[in-house]
Amino acid sequence: MPPRVSNQPKRKRGEGQWALGYHEPLNKNEENKKNDDGLNVRRRIIDIYSKAGFDSIDPADLRGRFRWFGLYTQRRPGIDGGKTAVLEDEELDDRYFMLRVRIDGGQLDPAQLRAIADISNKYGRGTADVTDRQNIQLHWIEIESIPDIWERLEAVGLSTMEACGDTPRVIIGCPLAGIAEDEVIDATPQIRDVHDRYIGSPEFSNLPRKFKSAMSGCTAHCTVHEINDVAFVGVVNESGEVGYDVFVGGGLSTNPMFAQRLGAFVKPEQAHEVWKGIIAIFRDYGYRRLRHRARIKFLVSDWGAEKFREVLEKEYLGYALPDGPAPAAPLPRRDHVGVHRQKDGDYYVGFTPKVGRVNGDLLHVIADLAEEYGSGRVRTTAEQKLVILDVPGDRTEALTAALAEHDLQVEPSTFRRQTMACTGIEYCKLAIVETKQRAMDLIDELEQRLPDFDQPLTINVNGCPNACARIQVADIGLKGQLVVDDDGRQVEGFQIHLGGQLGATFGKKVRGLKTTSAGLTDYVERVVRAYDAQRAEGETFAQWV
Ligand code: SF4
Repeated sequence: MPPRVSNQPKRKRGEGQWALGYHEPLNKNEENKKNDDGLNVRRRIIDIYSKAGFDSIDPADLRGRFRWFGLYTQRRPGIDGGKTAVLEDEELDDRYFMLRVRIDGGQLDPAQLRAIADISNKYGRGTADVTDRQNIQLHWIEIESIPDIWERLEAVGLSTMEACGDTPRVIIGCPLAGIAEDEVIDATPQIRDVHDRYIGSPEFSNLPRKFKSAMSGCTAHCTVHEINDVAFVGVVNESGEVGYDVFVGGGLSTNPMFAQRLGAFVKPEQAHEVWKGIIAIFRDYGYRRLRHRARIKFLVSDWGAEKFREVLEKEYLGYALPDGPAPAAPLPRRDHVGVHRQKDGDYYVGFTPKVGRVNGDLLHVIADLAEEYGSGRVRTTAEQKLVILDVPGDRTEALTAALAEHDLQVEPSTFRRQTMACTGIEYCKLAIVETKQRAMDLIDELEQRLPDFDQPLTINVNGCPNACARIQVADIGLKGQLVVDDDGRQVEGFQIHLGGQLGATFGKKVRGLKTTSAGLTDYVERVVRAYDAQRAEGETFAQWV
């Protein structure tokens, strides 16, 4: 039969957008979410699974809805990275969990820090990692302990609700919110407002995919607004009013995209409803057919910022937002390491565990030091670091020395300060290679070999092609994969990306440029030495490369 010829334009295949009438689930994940809201798993964990044990857990809960409460099964030890892609989930699953505690705005008081420390020591074999979204992750958690853990967290105002899953994840904020001398606005009230109104609301507990938010008035732009799904960035408009510029559609992973600026000026009191409008657009118009095309960045990329803003204003807000200014350019180092003055005359002290790795005992030490030298307030950063606030000027040196006794450096090398690593093969089921320990060794070795190097340089280490450690925006991005060594054996190694720059360019994947894990330090040393020798005055790594 000859092919049918038609003058009609080809009907575009639906992407599962609810707003266009596609309500039938188009894949297993969507089906699971339709069958039962992820938020409902909490009751089953408390009433059934924690009592009847791991084997009683419904697989649809175990590998789906548990994420709505920050729980992932961790990788069964001893399975090498070569098997990651070929084994089924159940073969990779351990009977232990990673538990992510959400810390909106990265704000902690000593009671909260001690609660996490106690949980880590009692139930998590002492593990604790500060993530690049200001959360703290614990490992080795058993299902039987979850109700007690939640009780302990909730008693101090913390939770794991919507820490993972297709939900509004933690809202990141500047750790110096409210205290920085040069901040444009303290976003803490807006973070709380959004958190209290919408986190845990069934209105937004079934999104096409995860939804990452940032709200900040930080002049260093430490919340990396360019790669969040939505980001509110402090600005001052022509009339001198303080408010926010809004960015949407940023994200990394396998299709990296920088967020687009809506160009609208949002008053602080409007921020929660604008956030609500944006997440509602994502819920309603977001693509639900293919998970790898479901993040809001694909919708924003297809629509463009102008259409997105028009839909937001007309269909969701019911009013137009005025145009507003763009934020100022970021500082070269977007972190808050070191001793710096606060606007009230006290000081903050930012310090660096290596690649975010701490432990239960260390969290207790940090809580004690924060109380002894400051007001007790501690912040996590989006660079896997920590900050103690409110330290009187004459006590900063003593605090710096006390932190150093625990290998928490206040004046670290560039390598310790700017290297990040994802979870990697130690616990992550998707990982192909070891990351945390490899990155910690790399820091130690580079400090020995290049003791005088002091230029800004980010080194980000990922255990697989995903982007949990943001490899595409690092100066040296290392993507874990199996490589062939000189003897022809398949071994752990990295594909190298060079010259990534937040908001400007993604790191270039240099064809064929790979290193084995064992050869990593030599490779990085060579590149850093060449940059240091050849760079012109003020030339960044991204410009040089
Ligand atoms: Fe796991 Fe890959 Fe994310 Fe690392 S980047 S934590 S290996 S998914």
